[in-house]
Amino acid sequence: MENEEKKIYVSQAVKKRLPRYYRYLRQLLEDGKLRISSLELAALMNVTASQIRQDLNCFGGFGQQGYGYNVKYLFGKISEILGVGERYTAVIIGAGNLGHALAASGTFKDRGVILKALFDISSEKIGKSISGFPVYSLDELDEYCMNERVDIAVLTVPGSAVASVSEKIAATDIKGVWNFSEVELSLPPRLSVENVHLGDKLMNLCYDIKSNQSEEESAGAGQEE
Ligand code: ATP
Repeated sequence: MENEEKKIYVSQAVKKRLPRYYRYLRQLLEDGKLRISSLELAALMNVTASQIRQDLNCFGGFGQQGYGYNVKYLFGKISEILGVGERYTAVIIGAGNLGHALAASGTFKDRGVILKALFDISSEKIGKSISGFPVYSLDELDEYCMNERVDIAVLTVPGSAVASVSEKIAATDIKGVWNFSEVELSLPPRLSVENVHLGDKLMNLCYDIKSNQSEEESAGAGQEE
C-alpha cells in the first residue's frame, strides 16, 4: 500500500541502545540544537562515529554528508519506535522505599508513561497518597485493571511476595512488568518483562573495582622487582 509507513527494522543490539539516543537527543532539543554530525554525537555519547552511523542508518535518508542529523526528526523517529507517544500507563506494586522513589522521580513522565497509582498490602500505606498518587490495596488490582487501562506493572515488592503478586498480575490485562525485585519472574509469555536487578549491578561494579585493584597491585609488584 502506498500510504503505509515503511516499517523500520531495528536489531536487538540497536534496540538496547535506543533509550540512550533518546536521552541525548532530548537534551539536544532542549538546548535548541537542530542538527548534529555523527562526530559531534559520538563525542557527546562517548562512542565511535561509525557506531552512530551504523546504528542510525536503519532510519534512512536524514544523516546526510555535510549536514548531519536533523535532531528533531531523529528524536521523533526514535520516540515513535520506543512507543513514547503511546501514552502507556503504569502502576507501582509495592509502596516501600523503592516504590516511593520511583513515584517521586520524573522517570515515567520523561518517557511518556503515565503513572496512575500504587498498590500495597500494608494497612499503614493503603488509602494514603505518595507524591500525589493514590495507594490502593493489592486486592483491588484486578478490579482496578478492569476499569482503568493499565499497561505496565512496576514491581517493587520483596522477593518473598513476587510469586503471589505475579499471579495477580497474570490475571489482569497488564502487558509488561518492570521488575525491580531480586527474583526472576514466572509469567505467561504474553507479558514482556524488563528486569532491573540493582544489586547485581552493584556487584558487577565491586567486581570491576576488585579486578582493577589487583591489576594495579600486580603492576606495582612488577615494577618493584
Ligand atoms: P518499608 O519499610 O516502607 O516497608 P521497604 O522498601 O524496606 O519499605 P520492602 O520489604 O522491600 O520494604 O517492601 C516493599 C513494599 O512492598 C512495602 O511497602 C510492603 O508493604 C510491600 N509488600 C510486601 N508484600 C507485598 C505484597 N504481597 N503485595 C503488595 N505489596 C507488598
